[in-house]
Amino acid sequence: MSDDCLACGVCCFSTLESYVPVSGDDYERIGEEAARLVHFVGNKAFMHLFEGHCAALDVRAGPRRYSCSIYERRPETCRELSQGSRACLGELEAKSLRPGRALVCVA
Ligand code: SF4
Ligand code: SF4
Repeated sequence: MSDDCLACGVCCFSTLESYVPVSGDDYERIGEEAARLVHFVGNKAFMHLFEGHCAALDVRAGPRRYSCSIYERRPETCRELSQGSRACLGELEAKSLRPGRALVCVA
């Protein structure tokens, strides 16, 4: 993860229970932790949310740091959202009022 992403974490925050889809391949890649980190809505799988963010997100106090605890095994949707992309900028715009969000530069 880039330093900007570590100071941001915005795209890992949501209150929607169907925020991050998990495919069969994603589920297998996540491995043993999938049972704890993935939940089902009907027959579709999604990352579990905890306290307003993905359950796989580690939030460190002090200077806030946000890191994905399964970064090498994260779902494809997360892999596709690269820093500075249109999707990233859309996340920053849509969630600009999230409490505690660090200011980041993605120019
Ligand atoms: S919203 Fe953009 S800058 Fe923030 S963590 Fe996600 S990819 Fe990184
Ligand atoms: S799996 Fe990792 S990168 Fe994807 S939303 Fe969860 S914490 Fe963020």
